[in-house]
Amino acid sequence: MKIVTVIGARPQFIKAAAVSREIEKYPQIKEIIVHTGQHFDANMSDIFFKELHIPKPDYNLDIHGLNHGAMTGQMLEKIEEVLIKEKPDWVLVYGDTNSTIAGALAASKLHIKTAHVEAGLRSFNMRMPEEINRILTDRISNLLFCPTQKAVENLKNEGFENFSFAKIVKSGDVMQDAALFYENLAKKPKNVNLENFILSTIHRAENTDNENRITEIFKTLNEIAKETPVVLPLHPRTKKILKNLNINTSNINIIEPVGYLQMVWLLKNSKMVMTDSGGLQKEAFFFKKPCITLRDETEWVELVENGFNKIVGANREKILKAYQEMKDINLDFSKDLYGGGKASKIIVKELRGEQ
Ligand code: UDP
Repeated sequence: MKIVTVIGARPQFIKAAAVSREIEKYPQIKEIIVHTGQHFDANMSDIFFKELHIPKPDYNLDIHGLNHGAMTGQMLEKIEEVLIKEKPDWVLVYGDTNSTIAGALAASKLHIKTAHVEAGLRSFNMRMPEEINRILTDRISNLLFCPTQKAVENLKNEGFENFSFAKIVKSGDVMQDAALFYENLAKKPKNVNLENFILSTIHRAENTDNENRITEIFKTLNEIAKETPVVLPLHPRTKKILKNLNINTSNINIIEPVGYLQMVWLLKNSKMVMTDSGGLQKEAFFFKKPCITLRDETEWVELVENGFNKIVGANREKILKAYQEMKDINLDFSKDLYGGGKASKIIVKELRGEQ
């Protein structure tokens, strides 16, 4: 049995690493990895491959730095070539990036079965490129691996139970598999000598591409940092914007983007997370930290419903209020919201069974 895995962005490397480890247990399955190159920084992506022990990509498409249409179009063309050559039984795609939709679309046009990991997530905000990618990918996938019950319900509400070619499987979240696996391999970043800090990441286009939002967020983080240290691995896109807009970040401990093992260390040693990342909201929960989400909505509604996460957008008052409420909060993180680390097992079992 042959699987072509299409990945290209940071969170996908982490998710694919968890599933690849499970695939490796079955010598009869051959996994071919296609790296689209979408990730912003070749060095960072090399670090990810090395430290996460992802098998080296069999194909590196080197497609990046383009507008959405051009990027997705080039990926579609190149992935199609790979699929025609490799003739896999399955194409495996992750999450909600341009690499995800390009992989799924190339496969479905060639009548190759597609499995989507992280299916069914919705923010209901069609201005997000991620939302468009996930809806379209789900619609043409054959196996839909849902990380949460809410994701299953979203698909049912959209009529997926009526699509004869699509099978919904509640697998749980592969990010939890990864968090459990890498927990003991955490590495302290060289230049961080703090404890009980707020860990922050800001990179979403809805924030970085909006001058008011990015200014308000950094003004507020800079204010909070006077009281509680804020450590912020800075995404290159955000770095550029901060410089262009001349935004003051003088109280914030800004560091370079870190590898995943360092991120795990930062998560474990932080007291709270403030982010606009999807993945980090869940990782905050896995590492038992309260989270404040600097977006107007989240796909991970169960975190909000259970009080682990507060959605505050880019509004100074809301951010400060949530910070006051969350800074000394005592939460019980024992709830099983994401399947407890068994997602990769369920995914690979299903792929083998459905061959
Ligand atoms: N991450 C990392 N280094 C960083 C920033 C993030 O390893 O400097 C990890 C983070 O822990 C999470 C994933 O990258 O597992 C999330 O990626 P990102 O925020 O880019 O994407 P999203 O989850 O929003 O799709």
